[in-house]
Amino acid sequence: MTKWVYTFGNGKAEGRADMKNLLGGKGANLAEMSNLGIAVPAGFTITTEVCTYYYDNGKTYPKELVDQVVTALAEVEESMGAGFGRADNPLLVSVRSGARASMPGMMDTVLNLGLNDATVQGLIERSGDARFAYDSYRRFIQMYSDVVLGVDHYHFEEILEAHKEDKGYTLDTELGADDWKQLVVLFKARVQEELGEPFPEDPEAQLWGAVGAVFGSWMNQRAITYRRLHEIPAAWGTAVTVQAMVFGNMGEDCATGVCFSRDPSTGENVFYGEYLVNAQGEDVVAGIRTPQQISIAGKEKNQSTLPSMEEVMPGLYKELVETRDKLEAHYSDMQDMEFTIQGGKLWMLQTRNGKRTAPAALRIAVDMAKQGIITTDEAILRIEPEALDQLLHPMLDPKAERTVLTRGLPASPGAASGAVVFNAKTAEDKAKNGQAVILVRIETSPEDIGGMHAARGILTTRGGMTSHAAVVARGMGRPCVAGAGEVRVDYKAGTLTVGSTVVKEGDWVTLDGANGEVMLGEVPTIQPELTGDFGALMEWADAKRTMKVRTNAETPEDAETARRFGCEGIGLCRTEHMFFDAKRIINMRRMILAQDEAGRRAALADLLPYQREDFISLFRIMVGLPVTIRLLDPPLHEFLPHTDAEIADVAKAAGVEPEQVRHRASVLAESNPMLGHRGCRLGITYPEIYEMQARAIFEAAIAVSKDEGAEPPLPEIMIPLVATKRELDMLKAVIDATAKAVFAEQGTTVEYIVGTMIELPRAALRGGAIAETAHFFSFGTNDLTQTTLGMSRDDSGPFLEVYRAKGVYERDPFASLDVEGVGELVQIAAERGRATRPDLKLGICGEHGGDPHSIAFCQSVGLDYVSCSPYRVPIARLAAAQAALTQAAK
Ligand code: ADP
Ligand code: MG
Ligand code: MG
Repeated sequence: MTKWVYTFGNGKAEGRADMKNLLGGKGANLAEMSNLGIAVPAGFTITTEVCTYYYDNGKTYPKELVDQVVTALAEVEESMGAGFGRADNPLLVSVRSGARASMPGMMDTVLNLGLNDATVQGLIERSGDARFAYDSYRRFIQMYSDVVLGVDHYHFEEILEAHKEDKGYTLDTELGADDWKQLVVLFKARVQEELGEPFPEDPEAQLWGAVGAVFGSWMNQRAITYRRLHEIPAAWGTAVTVQAMVFGNMGEDCATGVCFSRDPSTGENVFYGEYLVNAQGEDVVAGIRTPQQISIAGKEKNQSTLPSMEEVMPGLYKELVETRDKLEAHYSDMQDMEFTIQGGKLWMLQTRNGKRTAPAALRIAVDMAKQGIITTDEAILRIEPEALDQLLHPMLDPKAERTVLTRGLPASPGAASGAVVFNAKTAEDKAKNGQAVILVRIETSPEDIGGMHAARGILTTRGGMTSHAAVVARGMGRPCVAGAGEVRVDYKAGTLTVGSTVVKEGDWVTLDGANGEVMLGEVPTIQPELTGDFGALMEWADAKRTMKVRTNAETPEDAETARRFGCEGIGLCRTEHMFFDAKRIINMRRMILAQDEAGRRAALADLLPYQREDFISLFRIMVGLPVTIRLLDPPLHEFLPHTDAEIADVAKAAGVEPEQVRHRASVLAESNPMLGHRGCRLGITYPEIYEMQARAIFEAAIAVSKDEGAEPPLPEIMIPLVATKRELDMLKAVIDATAKAVFAEQGTTVEYIVGTMIELPRAALRGGAIAETAHFFSFGTNDLTQTTLGMSRDDSGPFLEVYRAKGVYERDPFASLDVEGVGELVQIAAERGRATRPDLKLGICGEHGGDPHSIAFCQSVGLDYVSCSPYRVPIARLAAAQAALTQAAK
């Protein structure tokens, strides 16, 4: 019989930390803590397999589930010494969702479940506090109605406000037991009104309602969006954990809090956390009350005036520190923990590997490796390559003038400027149009995820370092300033106000998430330092990787950036980009529109010096490193003049009538340019183009090799869009003949090789034959994906979204290589090519060369290098090291 339910509590558990796939992260770690002898309220976890079953079987449960839940619940009752639904001594539970990876898009936790008109009496007796009991009851009705029944919060807020007005109260604290008792009646009446049926009194019905809501939430829009952004497959499912309640709100010897074993913002090895006395659950992160620091050091650092836990509850604080040490040592990683104190007893409610900023991740990994807690290999594997992105981008120039508007908490580092917007939807819309925006909210909620992702930075006026905004921003790598309390936001007016300064929607502000400053306007930025922890980790990574990392670059600036980031050559220099410049495009157009070879040669002769200069500067930047130059590739179509003025210019430069130019342009127009007259087809029809380019390369190489003390450059001449060996043979002959001519003229030689891009399925299949001529293959996986999938990259956006949502392709095949299909072609080409020419150089130069998933694939098929855009070079270096380590471990 399948086991659908796993219990924990009382120093033992049926689950373990390594059962996350089955129990979800939360359930697995609760089990692990219980096994470690840490006090955890007893409970049980319904597995993710039930979720899968639920969706596979028309939203029904496996038939053994009810019995297994009943048995598990009985165990919880026994270990907590209370009965679920028992009026004299009720057991109350929380119902918590938990996927493998933590997912803020999921259902909110329901607390205090099991309360009804009878059990609330038992709670009064147990706590001796009627006000607390009725307050818990009304909170439960509110939460359950909102989360499970879909009756919105505002209904209850309305009733509460009316009651307060009636009684002349201003604060919630003025309400007594009788007030809450009356409100419970009114709340339930409202639910009845809204739903046409009563609020469920039966605890069992409450429980199954909540369980169903958790499974239902797996497919809600928030969760789907979150999964898409984080590439979490829909097939994973969520688990549900049902756990005995402990109360942090039963008096002054009660508390609840959230803490991190190291500072999640900087990575510094200091205990960090926030707590509230006499509070429950989400109060700490909801931003309703200002959370207090747990440690004295934290209090001083945050200039807080509120007492720390270390001062208020020194014994419990010590116990918490011991738990922190135990958990961090056990998991060998920084922990994010939730705890509640009831009547002077500490209970742990959650632990997980803490989300952290990129600088913190780096610092923690490097510190832990240096402390011997983990190995350097583990440190390499622990950093998400994508996270490095945050460290490579500009920071605020410390010398720049800045007008600080206000200050909040430094919730997620990095600097960002943009136009202020006040809701997530606007942020998404504006970002789609390429605008930089800063999302400003009083506080954020899971619905805002899409907008937070689209924004350059996030500013909130409420909430602490562990608020939703802070946690999500750190996870996404968005700079965030949280809890900027001086800021008044008026959503209706679309303004934020600090003192007498009013900032309107669309006005620019700058955030510094590292120090919490909010500045008016745009503040200039500087390049980050690539030394320290970053340098250490990169050094470890470079020692482990077997693939080289090159860059895709054609401008000197890009080439220099890439060298700074540690690239080992150029894997793709696109020569056509060099022709779009205003001064050059006129000659390019003259060349294309020429009536005959003589006309083309005349125009090409004018392009030659520019091209040669381009190569000279690239060779100088890449001294001693290989530079792969792709000969002209794009459809001629792209260079055609459009306006009358452009046509007139070309006609004048070529000394012909505009009508002739217009006619020629119409002849060259194509209906499907991507499959038209482009790539090596240009070289076959107009060999003089490639001849000029080859000449520019050789003349540049010879010029640079004459530099004082220079190592000779290593040009690799690459022919694009080859489908047949014959094409390559013909074009290689042009290049070799040009080399011979240039070498004879100059009285010297340089080394070079000729190879091809593999970007057509036919070329991949014919890799064996093509390698007879080619000395290298570079996989042009952008075009290879387009031609293999028969899908245009530029037009596939809208339907690919649907495809991904429906799980046809799990990832965007243009961002992450389609390993099954395109990958097989790459593998075939590699194998057949190497069978012909064992020392055939293999590399990849598509977008995929900077994508960690695709890099792992490149390692598995034995490529010599990957090539990516300059800012992705460090990401690729780390991903290549991880790929090598993972492969070696297999
Ligand atoms: P999330 O996944 O959003 O963190 P949790 O399931 O961890 O949601 O629940 C949120 C908060 O609710 C917890 O941090 C804790 O304070 C409170 N909570 C959950 N279960 C219990 C419980 N059994 N007893 C007391 N508080 C609980
Ligand atoms: Mg939690
Ligand atoms: Mg291409």
